[in-house]
Amino acid sequence: MKILTVNAGSSSLKFSLFEMPEEKVIASGLFEKIGLNDSFYTIKYNGEKITKEYDLKDHSIAVNKLMSELIELGIINSLDEIEGVGHRILHGAQEFSEPTVLSEEIVKEISKYNELGPLHNPANLMGASSFIKALPNVINVGVFDTAFHQTMEEKEYLYPVPYEWYELYGIRKYGFHGTSHKYISKVMSEALGPDIKIISCHIGNGGSLCAIKNGKVVDTTMGFTPLAGIMMGSRSGDIDPSIIPFIMKKLNKSADEIITMLNKNSGLLGISGISSDSRDVESGALNGDPRCILAEEMYAQKIANYIAVYNNLLDGADAIVLTAGVGENSKTMRKMIIDRIHSLGVYIDDKLNDFRGEFRKISTDDSKILVYVVPTNEELMIALDTYNIIVGDKN
Ligand code: AMP
Repeated sequence: MKILTVNAGSSSLKFSLFEMPEEKVIASGLFEKIGLNDSFYTIKYNGEKITKEYDLKDHSIAVNKLMSELIELGIINSLDEIEGVGHRILHGAQEFSEPTVLSEEIVKEISKYNELGPLHNPANLMGASSFIKALPNVINVGVFDTAFHQTMEEKEYLYPVPYEWYELYGIRKYGFHGTSHKYISKVMSEALGPDIKIISCHIGNGGSLCAIKNGKVVDTTMGFTPLAGIMMGSRSGDIDPSIIPFIMKKLNKSADEIITMLNKNSGLLGISGISSDSRDVESGALNGDPRCILAEEMYAQKIANYIAVYNNLLDGADAIVLTAGVGENSKTMRKMIIDRIHSLGVYIDDKLNDFRGEFRKISTDDSKILVYVVPTNEELMIALDTYNIIVGDKN
């Protein structure tokens, strides 16, 4: 069975075509600069990569072009071969806590929550609508970044602010990267058994930690928006909210402008003054740049601190998992983090840690908590969720 996974951004559309249940990627690609000048797309298939310029006025045109290319390139013989399309949707609020079959009506329902994810949700839903129109007989499934976190209890997801803010305006922790944390939870329960307590550390350009017990989220570091929690590539993570009105006055900027600076000019970039990419900051630190050294230390320490908090919350974790761009690839940052949780009896094996990008245990034999590197795969998780809905529908 062929399943497409789609991640639609405001001017982009990323796709993968999976053969399921084999979990094999047949083709993948990216449509870029949709609605802008110089739009183009790239499709990877059979070890080849084609890039073409094309006037992609809107997402519907990109979707129709994708369909015609899949046939013209011989990737599929007919559109009937596609049995499902899984869409990444950032925010499902409290209402959408499971992968959900999409119709135009459901898309409208979800759009009620656009103000909770204003940068992503409208584009995600535009992508979904385009596919519903282009493939009306195919099951479209929405997979929400917030959904996996909906098992959090009130005492974890509420902020200690007036309770009415939650009741009237939905002010609470939602959590993000749910599809990635769910995938990590699935892989780890296959490796170690279902009754495990894990701390999943998704550390890429964005970053969040998630405390998971028996496959259910107990707590996560991102909050009402993805700005909260650990220090990230260009996001600050947790800060004292009183800084915002103070710096607004000093810089004569609006709240929105300061929030943009906390999202885009902070984190590794803000402290190093060089880059949000940990590779650049790592090489700056290696060359002795004091601000890069400081940025690396702060980044590692904040992650280590949350690991200790979640170990306490879980009453002792069985495994710590490092994933996403930094977690999968940076042996330096992995070591810096684990070296900051020796108080938990956790130790890294330097020889085992000397690699990148595969599933591997990297803790020493006497480490009290296992430490794993697990490559995340959000597209596969979306394909699996879509596949399970289709198979469930057929049974
Ligand atoms: P992601 O958001 O998961 O795609 O992660 C992207 C980030 O991973 C990049 O911005 C880099 O900071 C980081 N990254 C990727 N490769 C490496 C590497 N070899 N060493 C250190 N960091 C890396």
